[in-house]
Amino acid sequence: MGLPSSTPPELLTKLTGMVVSTSGRSHAVTEVYTGEKVVDLPQSDPADVQTAYATARAAQAVWASWPLKRRLAVMRRFHELLLERGLTVVDLMQIETGKARRMAFEETCDVLMVTSHYLKAAPRILKERKHGGVVPLVSTSTEVRVPKGVVGLISPWNFPFATSLSDAMPALIAGNGIVLKPDNKSTLNVAYGVSLLYEAGLPAGLVQLVCGQGPDIGSAIVENADYVMFTGSTATGRTIGAQAGQNLIGCTLELGGKNPLIILDDADLAEAIAGTVTATFLNTGQACMHIERIYVCDERREEFTRRFVEAVRAIQVGGTYDFAPDMGSLVSVPQRERVQSHVEDALAKGATLLTGGKPRPDLGPAFFEPTVLTDVTEDMVLARTETFGPVVSIYGYTTVEQAVALANDTEYGLNASVWGGDRKAAESVGRRIKAGNINVNDGLAVSYASKKSTSGGFKASGVGSRHGDAGMLKYTDAQNVAVLKKQVLTNPPDTDWAKQVAKTVKGLRFMRKLGIR
Ligand code: NAD
Repeated sequence: MGLPSSTPPELLTKLTGMVVSTSGRSHAVTEVYTGEKVVDLPQSDPADVQTAYATARAAQAVWASWPLKRRLAVMRRFHELLLERGLTVVDLMQIETGKARRMAFEETCDVLMVTSHYLKAAPRILKERKHGGVVPLVSTSTEVRVPKGVVGLISPWNFPFATSLSDAMPALIAGNGIVLKPDNKSTLNVAYGVSLLYEAGLPAGLVQLVCGQGPDIGSAIVENADYVMFTGSTATGRTIGAQAGQNLIGCTLELGGKNPLIILDDADLAEAIAGTVTATFLNTGQACMHIERIYVCDERREEFTRRFVEAVRAIQVGGTYDFAPDMGSLVSVPQRERVQSHVEDALAKGATLLTGGKPRPDLGPAFFEPTVLTDVTEDMVLARTETFGPVVSIYGYTTVEQAVALANDTEYGLNASVWGGDRKAAESVGRRIKAGNINVNDGLAVSYASKKSTSGGFKASGVGSRHGDAGMLKYTDAQNVAVLKKQVLTNPPDTDWAKQVAKTVKGLRFMRKLGIR
C-alpha cells in the first residue's frame, strides 16, 4: 500500500530530529496497518529532560513578557496553518495509531475548536481584576494571573494530537512553556503540530519534545515541572499525582472510564442505536469517554438488542488512508491481545456473544471485530475493568432507580449517556449519575465538543479538568497585588484597645450590612 505521499522520509527525519535526545537509543515506529517499520524515534534520558526544561524556561521568560495580543497572533496563525495542513496530521496519525481517517480528521478539529475558543476567551479569562481594597478609597487589590512557568505535559496514544495540542493551547496562551512527552507510539503527528506552532511564530525552544517509556523519564518530567497535565491510565495517574503532591505542584489527571449508557423506555430507538454505535466503536473503542456498558429497560431490550446487533454487523472495518472505513485498527498487537483476552475470559465464564469476538488478521495484525456481549456477570474481567477496545456489553433493567444504581456501580466517573423521548426526564436521570460528562440523547460528542464548559473525571477518572475558564486558569497562579495609598493599618503605640475592639466590631457589622468584605 505504501505510506501517504504527504509523509516523505525528509519530513519524518525532520520530526524525529525535534526530540531532545543524547542517549543514542531509539524506538522503532511501525505502521499499524502492516506492522512495517517507518522510522527510528530517538529516546531521551533524564538528563535530556533537564536540558529540555532549561531551554523551555529561558524561552518562557521571553514569551511571558510579550503582551497577550502578540501571543494570540501566533495562535491565530497556527490555527490557519492547521486548517491548511490538517490532512498531513491525519496521515501521520493513521500511520502511527491505525485509527480510521474520519476519526483522525475529527481529532484535528478538536485542536482547531479549542484554539478558536481560547483566542476569543483568553483576554477575558486572563484579565486583571481590580477589587476595592480592605480600606475603602485608601487601598486597592488587584488579582493578577501569573503563568506557572514550564508545564510538563504527558499524553497517551489514543487521542495523541488532541491531548497534546489542545491541552497545550491554554497553557501557552497564558504564557507558559511546555515540555511535552507523547507516547512513543504517537509522537510524529504531535511533533508535526509543534512544528506548525514554531512556523506560526512561537519563540525558539518554548515547546520541547522528549520521548521515552513513561517509567524511564516520567519522574524527571514531574520533578522539573511547575505544573503537570497528564492524560492516560488511572494507574499511571496515581503515580504522577503522588509525585506532584511530593513536589507541591498542581496537576490535572485525565484518566480512564467504564462508561454507561441508559436507554429509557421512551427513547427513539433509531436515533439511540445510531448514536450508541458511534459512542461505542469510535476510535475502535479506544476513547476514554466511549461506552462499554449499555443498560436497556426490560420492555425494549429484545428490540434494541436485535437492531443494535444488526447495525454493528454493518460497520465497515478497514485500514486505508481514505475516508471509507467506519472503524480502523487497534493501536498495537499487545492492545489487540488485551481486548481479545477480555472477550475470551467473558465467553469462558458464560457470556453470550451476539456478534464479533475475533481478530481480523486478513486486515492487519492488530484488527479486531466490533463485538457485542450479553449475560455478562461480575466474575468476568470486563464487567468492571476498562477494556479499551471495540467491545460492549448489554444489560437489562426494570426500574429507572435500578438503572441509575447500575450506572453508578463503578470506580470510574468520566462519561455517561442517557437516551429518552422526554428530554427533561432523561436529563434528570443523567444528573443522578456521578460522572464529569453527561450526554442526553448523544453518546459523548455533545459534551466533549462544548469547549466553554469545564469538565473532568469524577472518582478514579481523574483530578481537575479541561476546557472552559478553569481549563486555562489552572495553568496560572493567582497573585494579589494590594496597594495602600496611606498607611492607616498600623495601630499607634497609645491605642486604647477596648475602644479599638468596639470600633472594629461596629465597623465589621457595618461592612456586612453594606456587603463589603
Ligand atoms: P498510560 O498511562 O500507560 O500512558 C499514558 C502516557 O503516560 C504515555 O505517554 C506513557 O508513556 C506515559 N507514562 C506511562 N507510565 C508513566 C510514568 N510512570 N510516569 C510518567 N509517564 C508515564 O495510558 P495509555 O494506556 O497509553 O492510555 C490509555 C488510557 O488513557 C486509558 O485508560 C484511557 O481511558 C485514558 N485516557 C483518558 C482520557 C481523558 O481525557 N480522561 C483521554 C484519553 C485517554
